[in-house]
Amino acid sequence: MSNELQADVVVIGGGPGGYVAAIRAAQLGFNTACVESAPTLGGTCVNVGCIPSKALLQSSEQYEFARLHAHEHGIGFDALRLDLHQMLRRKDEVVGQNTRGVEFLFRKHKINWIRGFGTLRTGNAVDVLLADGSTQTLKAAHVIIATGSVPIELPFLPFDERRIVSNTGALVFDEVPAHLVVIGGGVIGLELGSVWRRLGAKVSVVELMPGILPGSDDDIVKEADRIFRRQGLELHTGTRVTGAEISPETIVVSLERDGQARTLEASHVLVAVGRRPSLSGIDAGALGLTLGSRGEISVDDRMRTNLPNVFAIGDATGGKLLAHKAEEEGVIAAEAIAGKPSRMHYHSIPSVIYTWPEIASVGLSEQEVRVSGREYTAAKFPFTANGRARTMGAANGFVKLIADARTDELLGCHMIGPNVSELISEVVLAFEYRGASEDLALTVHAHPTLAEATKEAALAVLGRAIHI
Ligand code: FAD
Ligand code: NAD
Repeated sequence: MSNELQADVVVIGGGPGGYVAAIRAAQLGFNTACVESAPTLGGTCVNVGCIPSKALLQSSEQYEFARLHAHEHGIGFDALRLDLHQMLRRKDEVVGQNTRGVEFLFRKHKINWIRGFGTLRTGNAVDVLLADGSTQTLKAAHVIIATGSVPIELPFLPFDERRIVSNTGALVFDEVPAHLVVIGGGVIGLELGSVWRRLGAKVSVVELMPGILPGSDDDIVKEADRIFRRQGLELHTGTRVTGAEISPETIVVSLERDGQARTLEASHVLVAVGRRPSLSGIDAGALGLTLGSRGEISVDDRMRTNLPNVFAIGDATGGKLLAHKAEEEGVIAAEAIAGKPSRMHYHSIPSVIYTWPEIASVGLSEQEVRVSGREYTAAKFPFTANGRARTMGAANGFVKLIADARTDELLGCHMIGPNVSELISEVVLAFEYRGASEDLALTVHAHPTLAEATKEAALAVLGRAIHI
C-alpha cells in the first residue's frame, strides 16, 4: 500500500546533523519531516557515539579516581567494587534521556518523525519503507541528506560486535575484556581504550602511523603518548596489522613493525580505523549526485549538492566527523533554504578528545603553520604552574598558543590537561572574532581557575607570562 505526504523540507537521518536541521527548518516556518530508520532519534552521536562513550568515560574516571587517588584526599573505604552492569545501565539511561529529549524537541516544533528507511528518488521524492512493511512517499520542496557515517571494517577482522567490535560493541561488553587489542590510535581507540583500561582490561593500541592521533600538534602527541603509556596503555605505533586468526578462545592479531613480525593474543578486538560516509538510501550514480574522492557528498559552503534543492550535511559530507560540525551544517542548510545569507566556515571548529587528561584544539597545528611559511610565535603554559590544577591533583599537560608574529592573530591553540574540553570555548570565541593573543592576555580571568592557564599562555606568546 502506498500513500503520499507533502512537506517543505524532508531530512533523511535524525542524527545531530539531521535533527538540528529539522529543528532550525521548523523554527523558520517550514513544514518539516525527518526520516529516521533507527528506533530512536539522535543518530550515531546519541545512541552509540558521543553520549554513551562520555557516560562510560565519566564513570570509569570516577572508578579510577576512587582506586588510585581518593586516598590522597584522605578518603578511604574498605572494599571498592566495580558493578559493570550498573555502569552500563546508567549509560543506557543517559542515552535514553537524550533520545527522549530529541523526541520532545520534535514534538515541540511539530516535526513529523517518519519512522522508516528513506530512499531518495529524483524529483525530490523520498520513498520510506515503514516498519510495518508499507511504504510512504514524501514529496519535498527541499531535501537535506544527513545519513551520517559507518565504521570502516578490516577484511580479516569482520565485526561480530561481541569479540570483534566497532564502537557499538565496545560500549556494551558485559564483562571487562582480559586483553583488548585496539586497532587504530585515533580518537575512538584512545577514548574507549581508556575506558576499558581503567576498568581493569589490558589494552594494547596498534597505530599504523608513527604516532598516535595523527594530524594533531606534535607537542600534544608527545605529551599524550607519554601520559597514556604511564597510565598503562600499551601503544604500538608505526605498526601495521597484517592479519588475524580467529578461534573460539582467542584472536591472534599479526603485526609488523620495521620488517619485524609479532603477534598479540587478544580476548577482544576493537577496530577503530576511521569511519566512511554512509550513503544508505542514496544511489549517487542513479541520482547523478556528485561525490568527492572518499565517497563523501560534495557540497558548497551553503551545504548545496549539485542536485536542485538537495542539500547534504554532517558525516555524509566528510571533513571533520564531529557532531558540532554536523549541527552547524544543519543550521546553515535550513537557513540557506530560507534564503538567508548563511555560509559554513570551518576556521573555528574545535576538536576534543575526552581522555584523561583531555585534549582540545582549534586552528592549525604548529607543523601546519610552519609549512605555510608564515612567521609565528608559539608558547606553552604548563598546568604544573596553575594553582587550581594543583588543588585538583591534575597538574598534567599545558595550554599552547600559536600566533602570527607580525599581527598577533591567533592561528592555533592546543591544550592537554584537566577540563580542557570546556577551556577551549574561550579560545574558539577569540577565533570567531579573529582575535589576537593580546585579547586573551588582557582579559581578566577569575582566580583560581584552570582558564588562567590560557591567559598565561597568551602572555607567554607576548613574552611576559607572570607565573612561570
Ligand atoms: P549520524 O549521527 O551518523 O546520524 C545519521 C542517522 O541517519 C542515523 O541515525 C541513521 O540511522 C540515519 N539514516 C541513515 N540512512 C538513513 C536512511 N536511508 N533512512 C533513514 N535513516 C537513515 N563527535 C563529537 O563531536 N564529539 C564526540 O565526543 C564524539 N564522540 C564519538 C564517539 C564515538 C564512539 C563515535 C562513533 C563518534 C563520535 N563522534 C563525536 C562523532 C559523531 O557521532 C558524528 O560526527 C555525528 O554523529 C555525525 O552526525 P550526522 O547527523 O552526520 O550522522
Ligand atoms: P580516527 O581517524 O580518529 O582514527 C583512526 C586511526 O586509525 C588513525 O590514527 C589511523 O592512522 C589509524 N589506522 C588506520 N588504518 C589502520 C590500520 N590498518 N592499522 C592500524 N591503524 C590504522 O578514527 P576513529 O577513531 O575510528 O573515529 C572515527 C571518527 O569519529 C573520528 O574521525 C572522529 O572525528 C569521530 N569521533 C570523535 C570523537 C570526539 O570528538 N571526541 C570521539 C570519537 C570519535
